[in-house]
Amino acid sequence: MTQLFTNRIDKYKCIQIKPLSKALKQREVPFSFNLEGQLLEITKTACNYGGWRYWFVCPSCQKRFTALYCKNERWMCRKCHGLLYRDQIEEKQPKYIQSFHNAIRVARKIDPQFNVYLIEFIQQYGNMFPMKPRGMHVQTYARLKFEYYQQIELMLNQMNALTISRYKHGQQLKQEVDSMHTKDN
Ligand SMILES: [Zn+2]
Repeated sequence: MTQLFTNRIDKYKCIQIKPLSKALKQREVPFSFNLEGQLLEITKTACNYGGWRYWFVCPSCQKRFTALYCKNERWMCRKCHGLLYRDQIEEKQPKYIQSFHNAIRVARKIDPQFNVYLIEFIQQYGNMFPMKPRGMHVQTYARLKFEYYQQIELMLNQMNALTISRYKHGQQLKQEVDSMHTKDN
């Protein structure tokens, strides 16, 4: 089962080449430097219209990148880490997963530790919204709870729609196969 957002690029520490360009012009490139105990390399390529473009060399694939990311205490490019931009992740996901994440996001406004897997969430969603914390305004709590259940309802409808469309697709395939058999006979 997937943990929430584990490969989302904005969740990780990042080092960008752009803010370093000025300083890099003042020194000899390529060179290596130590970042949090890991040896990284900066290199340069010539621009078409003169001047240089500076790059990090990914220690894993050895390709040039303008940014490196730190995951599990290793600095590498986003591809080697398998990191995705938020819209890439959302594109890949069925809509109900997005609604699930939205619901979790709302619940985390009350309990930042709130985390649950999709399956247990679906099985017992009715009881999972966090209790009202002391000090939170009743109306704020009610509004969040409403938003949460709105997202869940949306999620369940989207799951339903998906099941129905899969079922229809299956029926259609079956008809096609059946009609092929009749033709064969
Ligand atoms: Zn790489």
